Amino acid sequence: MDSETSNKRPLEDDNDISTTVNSNSPISTTNTEITVKTEDSNGDIIMTDLSSTNSTSDSKQDIIKTLSRTKSSDVIVPARKPDLSYVLLKTGLVYDVRMRYHAKIYTSYFEYIDPHPEDPRRIYRIYKILAENGLIIDPTLSGSDEIGEYMLKIPIREATKEEILTVHSEEHLEFIESTQNMNKDELLKATEKGDSVYFNNDSLLSAKLSCGGAIEACKAVVEGKVKNALAVVRPPGHHAEPDAPGGFCLFSNVAVAATSILKNYPESVRKIIILDWDIHHGNGTQKVFYNDPRVLYISLHRYEQGKYYPGTKAGGADQVGEGLGEGLNVNIPWPVGGVGDADYIYAFRKVVMPICYEFQPDLVIISSGFDAADGDVIGGCHVSPAGYGQMTHMLKSLAKGNLCVVLEGGYNLDSIAKSALRVAKVLIGEPPEELKNIHPKTESIEVIDDVIKIQSKYWISLGPGYTGLDYNLPSIMGNFDTLTAKSPDPTFIEVASKHDKLNDAVRDHQRDELFEKYKFITLPLLIEKLPKTPSYNSSTILCSPDVYENDKLVIIVHDPSRIWARRDPITGDLDSANAVTVDKSLEFIDWALKEKWGVIDINIPITITGKEDVNYNNINTSQDILLYLWDNFIHFFKVQKIAFIGVGEAYNGIIHLCGHRDVRNLVKASINFIDKATALRAVISTIDESVVDWFFRNSLIFTSSKHSCWGDKDGNSKRPRKKYGRVLRADVESLDRVIDERFEEVCTFIEESLEDYESESDSES
Ligand SMILES: [Zn+2]
Repeated sequence: MDSETSNKRPLEDDNDISTTVNSNSPISTTNTEITVKTEDSNGDIIMTDLSSTNSTSDSKQDIIKTLSRTKSSDVIVPARKPDLSYVLLKTGLVYDVRMRYHAKIYTSYFEYIDPHPEDPRRIYRIYKILAENGLIIDPTLSGSDEIGEYMLKIPIREATKEEILTVHSEEHLEFIESTQNMNKDELLKATEKGDSVYFNNDSLLSAKLSCGGAIEACKAVVEGKVKNALAVVRPPGHHAEPDAPGGFCLFSNVAVAATSILKNYPESVRKIIILDWDIHHGNGTQKVFYNDPRVLYISLHRYEQGKYYPGTKAGGADQVGEGLGEGLNVNIPWPVGGVGDADYIYAFRKVVMPICYEFQPDLVIISSGFDAADGDVIGGCHVSPAGYGQMTHMLKSLAKGNLCVVLEGGYNLDSIAKSALRVAKVLIGEPPEELKNIHPKTESIEVIDDVIKIQSKYWISLGPGYTGLDYNLPSIMGNFDTLTAKSPDPTFIEVASKHDKLNDAVRDHQRDELFEKYKFITLPLLIEKLPKTPSYNSSTILCSPDVYENDKLVIIVHDPSRIWARRDPITGDLDSANAVTVDKSLEFIDWALKEKWGVIDINIPITITGKEDVNYNNINTSQDILLYLWDNFIHFFKVQKIAFIGVGEAYNGIIHLCGHRDVRNLVKASINFIDKATALRAVISTIDESVVDWFFRNSLIFTSSKHSCWGDKDGNSKRPRKKYGRVLRADVESLDRVIDERFEEVCTFIEESLEDYESESDSES
């Protein structure tokens, strides 16, 4: 009978438990007694109300058992309401079916079956998935006013003329108003004339609601009516400039909302952050606040040197704001597509969140396009719903939780629905999901480093404080002309005119070492047209003393040594006590000398000491030096066979020489190593066509595993053409590692090339 008694006990406790749950749980705001979390097949959390389900009474009892483990007879802490006012607040939601009226007028059957991406169903599908997952209750999906216990419907309204005019010009507003009364032909004409926009007679209404919805969502958050808010609105806004619609956007919704909040709540909202994670740069929003110190605009977007939509340089990392707004515009421009969670989280950790904490906003608005989402063909990126959840979670930690999410782009209906659902869940209070991929792309790490260099001028939290911003031109984003003009610090050229470049000193040291070890000597470098600089000196061309007589030569042409060093975290200086030079080409010297071959080692500086640096080009220099070496020395040496080894950009000189002198009798092998940033160079012969075949047979070009000649990593593989020589892909990324990986192979190849020649000449004699 023991089992019966134990079965009875929980039932007796039932009442106790339900009262406990009701009065003490900070989360429960209703009479729902017990809920359990389960996961459906999509991994979405489903809340099940057990108290209203008869069939699961067994499991209900199980839960009661666990909850009732502690019996309360002695009061230690008396019951009290939690001092957490925000838990009583819901998450606000803006949605109105009338924003679906704005639609493209079909002009062909094709447009009917393949609708415009800015599709009215976008907001419907987001609303629907919220209902399907129980975040809102609206069985007919008609946008009802009572939507359940988690979210609060924020009444929408049309933005007023005055509000729109705080951002847009009168002409702009008048034009959008005029579409209301246009006939079909006029609408089609206006559609054709615009930059990626379309109009019908309801466009004005939808756009005014979309804009008004964004304002009301922000207002509800600022006034404390909701804890945070999600505005499911369209048409989007961030491409609309003050005097022109564009990129599917008619009014700059978020800009108008931010302006309105700053104007109407001057006491409580002094500073706003607009975080724009739409895959496109928000050119309109940026323009509105470019010289406004009250708004920090941060955008993460595909840029590709300004080629990605909207296709201007406005989205570059060097666009930092102007006047009082200088330093309050932060662009994080992805140089390639295909970025995902890991890249966004990396950017948030390294740049976005440090800046946001330092700015201390009173309100955060997310310009929330979901076109970086996995599955969106326009964006071509891979942010998952979990990624959006994580970013939302981080931004919730700012501005006392005053966060308003406003929909922008996003064109895969499934992707935007799932992403918006995850964002809404985090807004309501669910923890974000864990991420699967946490490794950012190399390109992203490089671009974030560039952004930090630029923004560290304005944000202490981004240190180190790089002085002379332009001394290290950001490598990956292209045009940085404006940086030099803006920098108040001494430019690198000014500093360098008084100090030597480290590369010079490193090479001089190498010369001394090679002399000590192998009695290396200098070949004079007397080329009239090379710039006058201490960077060319007795160290540029070094050779073993037997180079005049030896019948076999290995000629190594390489970029300068690299330096591995620890950086001072405050000043950004390299710590010379913790710095070493790395030069893999030295290993080839050791090897070749052991084989008893002559060695010529040529160092081609990437930049040079002195004022001529501005006009200096290391690739041209490499070409000039090799021609000079060939015409003035090799010709007069006793050498019978030569192997070239090219490392880095300097390898261009070898390819150039093979096209401009008939080197085929002497050169038996050309081995080259290039990193991912060095372009492949084709042999273009001024002698005869067969040089290409000859070069292919006698060359090996090892590239970084990430070199673009192999296509993108999504499997669109390519194969470099024959004119580039025999190109092989290493398994590793950095140049030093490529050399390590292929060292033995290269030595064997060169040995065999020279052996074969010997046996041929033997048979001839
Ligand atoms: Zn977009």
